[in-house]
Amino acid sequence: MARYRGPVCRLCRREGMKLFLKGERCHSEKCAIEKRNFVPGQHGKDRKAKIVGYGLQLREKQKTKRVYGLLETQFRNSYEKAAHMKGITGENLLSLMERRLDSVIYRMGLATSRPQARQVVRHGHIQVNGRKVNIPSFVVKPNDEISVRDSSKENPTILSARDATAHAPSPSWMDVDRDNLKGRISGMPRRDELVQIPINEQLIVELYSK
Ligand code: SF4
Repeated sequence: MARYRGPVCRLCRREGMKLFLKGERCHSEKCAIEKRNFVPGQHGKDRKAKIVGYGLQLREKQKTKRVYGLLETQFRNSYEKAAHMKGITGENLLSLMERRLDSVIYRMGLATSRPQARQVVRHGHIQVNGRKVNIPSFVVKPNDEISVRDSSKENPTILSARDATAHAPSPSWMDVDRDNLKGRISGMPRRDELVQIPINEQLIVELYSK
């Protein structure tokens, strides 16, 4: 599946906040938001106009897509799926995003960023309920067992990510066994722990409902 391949710090600068796309660098003084927090481009520093209405809805959608590393078609398809589920569409959308396998690996602390988690999944290091799954968009459900495959238990990327994220708490909807590089989905994500970055999902619903 296609993905954005350009400079990622630029995406954070466009949204005016940290989207945590580069792992440990995001927590260091090298972070581009720490050094130059203004819109990228020749006139970025001069752009001071307040965003309202459609612009606000658009930015919220772009930000969410970028946090989870999706392109427009993939994100739109997820929205359509969320709209057909029971419950509140915006919350369904965030739940679908958060239960993507790459996002779950990130929240389990087996990768330092969602892009890295995506790579870990793509490279075939992960299994779900004992079967290898290398599809980052795979959506987990309660009672699924997610683990690093035996052949990948010494993988340096995964092990160093686990050490680097030792301080990060796991969400309440998953039981994580860091020592054994595995976890179980114990329930559905709660809205208040869905994302680490503020997202107003209602603006996305308004945008796509036009
Ligand atoms: Fe780059 Fe991470 Fe900082 Fe975003 S938060 S600007 S990805 S270093």
